[in-house]
Amino acid sequence: KEKTLALIKPDGVSGNYTDGIKRMILESGFRILRETIVQLDEDKAANFYAEHSSRTFFSSLIKYMTSGPVLVMVLEKENAIADWRGLIGPTDARKAKITHPHSVRAMCGLDSEKNCVHGSDSALSAQREMSFFFKEMPSD
Ligand code: ATP
Repeated sequence: KEKTLALIKPDGVSGNYTDGIKRMILESGFRILRETIVQLDEDKAANFYAEHSSRTFFSSLIKYMTSGPVLVMVLEKENAIADWRGLIGPTDARKAKITHPHSVRAMCGLDSEKNCVHGSDSALSAQREMSFFFKEMPSD
């Protein structure tokens, strides 16, 4: 089965959405294979979001992502990557509330930055992001 990386961002953790998000994850048929709480420092956050380093919002994004602990999980199910992206909804949580009212971001996100969760967008980034946080991954 496919694996993906799910991350509850600092606003999701501090806003006490962790249990609600996990409930949505389990009700949608994912298994949670790994779970860890991490406080990102600037280097680690910049490395994680390296693909956005030239964007105007980059420094704000790094400040946000280092503002408190994040909860990182490895999820498994068939089609996990696309299904988790589908469950979290669009990047802009304000849009999510209108177009995807049952999505995670509609529940706990605020805007296009503070959108409370992350999901890998491809098999390649899932692989990279899982090894970024977890040294040992279960073999398929
Ligand atoms: P993620 O990669 O976190 O799952 P995403 O793939 O939906 O989110 P990306 O375009 O990859 O969105 O942007 C990465 C993150 O950067 C977003 O989740 C959000 O926190 C932040 N971000 C994206 N666009 C903006 C923006 N216009 N203004 C401020 N922050 C933004």
